[in-house]
Amino acid sequence: MAEIKAYSLDELGQLFKDKGLPQFRAKQVYQWLYQKGACSYDEMTNLPKNLRATLAEELPLLPAAVIDRQVSSDGTRKYVIQFTDGTATEMVAIPSQDRLTVCFSTQVGCAMACSFCATGHEGFTRNLLPGEMVEQVLIAQHDMGRRVTNLVAMGQGEPFLNYDNVRKALTILNSEQGLNIAARKITVSTCGVFAGIQKFAQEPEQFTLAVSLHSAIQKTRDELMPKVANQPLAELHEVLCQYQAISKRRITFEYLMISNMNDDERNLDALVDFCDGLSCHVNLIPLNEIDDSPFKPASHHRVERFIERLQGSGTEATLRQSRGGDIAGACGQLKNKTL
Ligand code: SF4
Repeated sequence: MAEIKAYSLDELGQLFKDKGLPQFRAKQVYQWLYQKGACSYDEMTNLPKNLRATLAEELPLLPAAVIDRQVSSDGTRKYVIQFTDGTATEMVAIPSQDRLTVCFSTQVGCAMACSFCATGHEGFTRNLLPGEMVEQVLIAQHDMGRRVTNLVAMGQGEPFLNYDNVRKALTILNSEQGLNIAARKITVSTCGVFAGIQKFAQEPEQFTLAVSLHSAIQKTRDELMPKVANQPLAELHEVLCQYQAISKRRITFEYLMISNMNDDERNLDALVDFCDGLSCHVNLIPLNEIDDSPFKPASHHRVERFIERLQGSGTEATLRQSRGGDIAGACGQLKNKTL
């Protein structure tokens, strides 16, 4: 049987039912795991001892370990988290006065091979289980000593290539029996995987969709994000229009500002055109340089120009504050250094 972190609450309830165990026990276990952050069945003191022993044998609970943790001068903390199979991933906790945002990973490594990304260079290892995603959030919450208020699935991995597990994790994170984080404060970021966007449109919760665009010129985007070259921009635009028609939710576009790559006037024209007809917000992101990368951050002047022009055309655009730059801030960098 799989380890316990693979199950949603409903599935756990069914499993307990099949075993002739009372349903409320499933709920108790779930609350221990996701509300109290229990790392072993022995901690679940309101469960009979023999049930704890059976569960430990049949549904292993294998806690992850933090094998590296770095604290930035701005308070951002970055973690390398290792699972019991020896694989590891990254998570970042970004505190501010009124919120604690956690950027968590959905896979170990990533198959998308984005050319600007350290994780993309690492390749794909495996999908994370729902409980392994939630565990990252619990680790951050415990270490920061305050409640996580905002989440972004924007660490290692393409969430929509692990859709079912991500969906289960979102339920745990959002539900009252789990972490009870408002759906509106949970963002899932994709490279633009059509099938995932179409499924996500049907989800009843008000989760936010973010799409990594990085260029609205096909050739440039193909260079930056080669694995979505088969999901062309014109069709992506159509899929997003359909998404919006169904979900009525605003989309965020992530746009890394890279000097002499996607920061010229031609790219700006294409971006303005792409946003036309969509209710969206463009998040311009300063590039975190990674070792041996030819990519350099765009100038402040170019970023200002993008913001001015986008806002002038009626699209909200902001520059994301760069956080944790002194602690290997780009995705995959710290893990590569640690391992
Ligand atoms: S940017 Fe995201 S999707 Fe692209 S390779 Fe890196 S982790 Fe994967």
